[in-house]
Amino acid sequence: NTTVYYDDDADVSHVTDETVAVLGYGSQGHAHALNLHDSGVDVIVGLREGSSSRDDAEASGLTVETPDVAAAEADRVVMLVPDTVQPAVYEAIQDGLEPGDTLQFAHGLNIHYGQIEPQEGVDVTMVAPKSPGHLVRRTYDRGEGTPGLIAVYQDASGDAKAGALSYAKAIGCTRAGVIETTFKEEVETDLFGEQAVLCGGVTEMVKVGFETLVDAGYSPEMAYFECLNELKLIVDLMYEGGHMEMWNSVSDTAEYGGLTRGEEVINREGMEKILEEIQNGEFTREWILENQAGRPSYRQYRQAEQDHEIEQVGNELRSLFSWGEQEEAEAPADD
Ligand code: NDP
Ligand code: MG
Ligand code: MG
Repeated sequence: NTTVYYDDDADVSHVTDETVAVLGYGSQGHAHALNLHDSGVDVIVGLREGSSSRDDAEASGLTVETPDVAAAEADRVVMLVPDTVQPAVYEAIQDGLEPGDTLQFAHGLNIHYGQIEPQEGVDVTMVAPKSPGHLVRRTYDRGEGTPGLIAVYQDASGDAKAGALSYAKAIGCTRAGVIETTFKEEVETDLFGEQAVLCGGVTEMVKVGFETLVDAGYSPEMAYFECLNELKLIVDLMYEGGHMEMWNSVSDTAEYGGLTRGEEVINREGMEKILEEIQNGEFTREWILENQAGRPSYRQYRQAEQDHEIEQVGNELRSLFSWGEQEEAEAPADD
């Protein structure tokens, strides 16, 4: 049985007694830094010289130093720069980590695959909101929070978990609920989800569905509505009430056709291969080499995606209809 931790399970004074260095001021960084600050934590934002995020952080009343200076002053150093640059940033800040300090992540990739090998004597933890940063900030502002994960990789102080829970409280996650996991489980499930289902699986299904209709002579506009636009309506129903709410909301014909035909389009062996390459480190090795080479195939894949007919059709249709703008108009009101 999974234990869910809420506000009452966490003592915010653990982090309010600390100085916290938030390295990076992007999606997660800005949200953590501002929420910590509003929770009464002494925060220093760590940014490289000439950083494009500096003005923004300072305009919000935060102190900004270079990462090495911020880390040296802090008791807890939180790595919120992109995963691919974290090993280099770690090199620059490691001398600022003293026994008793905490090195914290929002994703376990670099620790789990050995790209960062933290010294003994420091706690190594993870506090990972299961949400994009702008929602971590916006929900906190409203007195709510986003669900999150905590994990402990190295517990030198004996108090690492309490510290992680305290931090989760200060950024608002324990308002929504926090569960404990391991670095290994967080990384492997996260990579699998984004590759097989969320990002890779869904876009491939949409594209191949679109191509199948268009190649058979149907209009690209009809194919776009069927294969991409309606996806959001279906996912909203699943999000609210699971598969049964979705099946109950569509027609009996859609339900019968979907239940009998869906299996045909999914390749379970492909999914298992993806999971294996995550577990044995093959995917991560490939991604590290790709970065070292200056991302040549990443660029090619992105270009092909951008040139796909569904993008041209979608851009045009989205500018002709008003559904997108309505959503946009609602969103900023919360900020
Ligand atoms: P971002 O890409 O938004 O981070 C950008 C920030 O990092 C900017 O402030 C940028 O400043 C700084 N930065 C970039 N390169 C460097 C560098 N070489 N040296 C110093 N600073 C640099 O990161 P995310 O918020 O997306 O991700 C941070 C962590 O959170 C990752 O571990 C990620 O896996 C995890 N995570 C992300 C989620 C998300 O929703 N995005 C969700 C859950 C976890 P500059 O102006 O200098 O470029
Ligand atoms: Mg220190
Ligand atoms: Mg993910």
